[in-house]
Amino acid sequence: MSSLNNYLSQSLNTIKKAHWYRQEKLITGLPSAVVSIEGRQLVNFASNDYLGLAGDSRLIQAGIEALKQYGTGSTGSRLLSGHRKLHQELEDAIASWKQVEKALVFSSGYSANIGTITSLVKQKDLILEDEYNHSSLKNGAKLSQAKKIQYKHGNIQDLSEKLAQNRHQYRHCLIVTDSVFSMDGDLCPLPELVAITEKFDCWLLIDEAHATGVMGKTGAGCLEHFGVKGDNIIQIGTLSKAIASLGGYVAGSKLLIDFLRNRCPTWIYTTALSPADTASALAAIKLIQKYPEMRTRLWQNINLFKEILTTLKIDFLPTESAIICVKEKTAKQALQWSLKLQEKGFFVPAIRPPTVPTSRLRFSIMATHEKRHFYDLQSYLGN
Ligand SMILES: *Cc1c(COP(=O)(O)O)cnc(C)c1O
Repeated sequence: MSSLNNYLSQSLNTIKKAHWYRQEKLITGLPSAVVSIEGRQLVNFASNDYLGLAGDSRLIQAGIEALKQYGTGSTGSRLLSGHRKLHQELEDAIASWKQVEKALVFSSGYSANIGTITSLVKQKDLILEDEYNHSSLKNGAKLSQAKKIQYKHGNIQDLSEKLAQNRHQYRHCLIVTDSVFSMDGDLCPLPELVAITEKFDCWLLIDEAHATGVMGKTGAGCLEHFGVKGDNIIQIGTLSKAIASLGGYVAGSKLLIDFLRNRCPTWIYTTALSPADTASALAAIKLIQKYPEMRTRLWQNINLFKEILTTLKIDFLPTESAIICVKEKTAKQALQWSLKLQEKGFFVPAIRPPTVPTSRLRFSIMATHEKRHFYDLQSYLGN
């Protein structure tokens, strides 16, 4: 065996022994609350499509029309030949929804996070990050070359102590956090974070990936949910979860966006979002604002599912979002449960290390789940 293959094979064996090995599952047909996997219909608890818009005919139609009008690709970066009216419209819609001056769309939420963090802070600066932050935030922090310190998950006391010890040695300080934690479902303590940001003269970058379309009165996210605002807040999110398309965004002051347009490598040196993705995302945002009842249904489903788990005395991690996690002792146990549930018609992913410190089953609730989906699950789990 070649030395490369030898190394790869040994690494994969280690992963398999730990029950950390992963494989994709082939899903056929339109995305929905029920999906077809290996020829079987499963109730889908694995989707980020919280409002059930990814298979919606209105989004599909918007995508088709953009394809016909603007073609398949945007043919260049935004600053060269890739800028279209649709991009401007989408950015205006995001800015107005998020109640900020401007927004900028990226190829993905991952690249928005990497690019924004690395453009904002450098060697002389400090990053304070929640230990449970998403991979894109952690890698952005790593790549930035700023001094990086983790604080305990959601722990303001720990953050405050670490700032008191370290803040004065650095030029700028960026506090970085998920708003809804993607693998737990709990919220960051946003009002306290904003207060600390002011007290220690920091900036706050908040990743609203799982909050946009879900949290807040108009679905604008956790800032709206908590009623906080501020010019030192940088909001980032994705167009690929509740917005049911592909891409990411940054929202904030006019100056922030102008700075990123001139400094952010993952925006400058990459091809502009495709016309179809852009048009579908724009259609989704309009629908989310027009039909708040989608969010009402989502929250009814979330509450029903939590009630069922409570009735069955099944412990779940603290959550205030559409992500509900049931803890398992080992990776093996989580996998076995996931397989058993799949046999019974429920698609529930096992989330294992290294993604999370402890294994769990992760249920994502959708507005388009029907009550019977939860009652079917209840009767299976109850037996
Ligand atoms: C999904 C996710 C991202 C990445 O967004 P993409 O658009 O899928 O690249 C970033 N942050 C968090 C918290 C996420 O859950």
